[in-house]
Amino acid sequence: MGKNYRAELTGVFGDPVEGNPTGVMEEAAYQACGLNYRYITMKVTPEGFPDAMKAVKALHMKGVNLTMPHKITVLPYLDELSEAASIIGAVNTVVVREDGSLFGDNTDGKGFVHALLRSGESVSGKNIVVLGAGGAARAIAVECALAGAAFVTIINRTFSRAQELAELIRSGTKVGAKALAWNKSQDIPDGTDILINATSIGLMDDREQLPDINYETITPGMTVSDVVFNPSDTLFLQSAAAHGAKTVNGLGMLACQGARNFTLWTGMEAPLEVMIDTLKKEFGES
Ligand code: NDP
Repeated sequence: MGKNYRAELTGVFGDPVEGNPTGVMEEAAYQACGLNYRYITMKVTPEGFPDAMKAVKALHMKGVNLTMPHKITVLPYLDELSEAASIIGAVNTVVVREDGSLFGDNTDGKGFVHALLRSGESVSGKNIVVLGAGGAARAIAVECALAGAAFVTIINRTFSRAQELAELIRSGTKVGAKALAWNKSQDIPDGTDILINATSIGLMDDREQLPDINYETITPGMTVSDVVFNPSDTLFLQSAAAHGAKTVNGLGMLACQGARNFTLWTGMEAPLEVMIDTLKKEFGES
């Protein structure tokens, strides 16, 4: 048989997608592995979404990532969901299987758990405190519970959203969970093993901002992590480190999430170091 010039297609559907760095990381990984795969960052509005999902099948794509505003709208198009995606009720990765059926996963939380493991930390048996109750917080909190966390506490500015997420964890995973209202200079509860900023505070233009917590309640035994990946060394992580905590940044989570997508689409182990280095270069950090 002659040479095969056909490229395998993957990508992301969202709006806006202009600032989404995933494609740079996935394409670097494909190249490093010598795969004839492409990752295209595509603007897809809600009106165009049904046609875009038809295109996934018509173009024989390997799969797509979904970002705002499609993570929930995609659910009726899918044939099967991972456990995490079905509890969270949102999908960020679609895989087109050999028989053409569509499988949906949510890899944000798995990326977090994997990044933590790479730093030598497991969530198993741990008391987890999550700041935030948005999409990233949901994915992380549910995945931590599925990975064996002992208890999950959600602290969020909008208390009702914290309550909803705590209830979702209790009913969906049977792991104990509670919600706390976010008070001024919020104390981190005694006995916390792992604290995560899963809010968007600290992101790029907002980089001088810090979550309003009592940093004196961060102790040397804690591991503190941030979902914000650009900059990766956030003021939040710097403040936690200054109080003796071990820190794990959001760039690792993004890369680990991308690595999982890579494996889902290619069936191969991802070149994680290549993906991390690519992101660092992209954010001017190397
Ligand atoms: P959402 O909009 O769904 O949620 C935002 C969360 O931040 C809410 O809980 C919101 O509280 C809280 N929040 C925002 N501003 C403030 C503030 N000033 N004070 C207190 N709380 C605040 O966003 P996502 O969950 O999708 O994304 C959150 C962050 O996670 C983003 O920075 C995103 O880039 C990052 N992310 C990182 C990933 C990675 O791999 N590293 C993967 C996915 C996301 P309220 O409910 O009260 O509005």
